[in-house]
Amino acid sequence: MGSILEAVKLIRSPVRADGDWGATWKEWWDATGFGHRTVAEYIKRFRSYHTGLDLNHRSGIDLGRSVYAAADGVVCFVGKVRGWRGGSVIVIEHEFGDTRLWTRYAHVDPAVNQGQVVSAGEVIAHIADYPPKGRIGDHLHFDVAVCNLCNNPGLWPGLDLERLQACFVDPVLFSMPESESNDS
Ligand SMILES: [Zn+2]
Repeated sequence: MGSILEAVKLIRSPVRADGDWGATWKEWWDATGFGHRTVAEYIKRFRSYHTGLDLNHRSGIDLGRSVYAAADGVVCFVGKVRGWRGGSVIVIEHEFGDTRLWTRYAHVDPAVNQGQVVSAGEVIAHIADYPPKGRIGDHLHFDVAVCNLCNNPGLWPGLDLERLQACFVDPVLFSMPESESNDS
């Protein structure tokens, strides 16, 4: 478990070229939260727990904004996934010593191909047009998995909280300033 937590700390912001999570939270906000943190509203709407972050730019304009690789890795999936509206899904596999992690970027227009080697901070996509406007319109869905998303790029445990916790890590645990991260 220690090595997973160490590896997770190396995941950088997917919405800033410099990967700076601190600066990210000045420019972006997370509309949904991980798991059950904001579950009442989300479960009512989507009947599932949320696997990651829904990053929205504070200006309200998200369409076309750059999405960056959150760490060095290999693109193992690019494409449409059934049930995921608004653009495509990208999965990158990362190796940190003997630990492997997968980052997933959804509702995007891809700028990379499957099999491509990418570096942290490299542009991999742009935020796509997502039909519902307002709070849940265009945004970057970003999550970090410890289960192999290359084999299952659409993995969405729904209301299976145990599976969610077994496969996904809350990005806020390592990305939020200390004072904001314990508001459960
Ligand atoms: Zn999402």
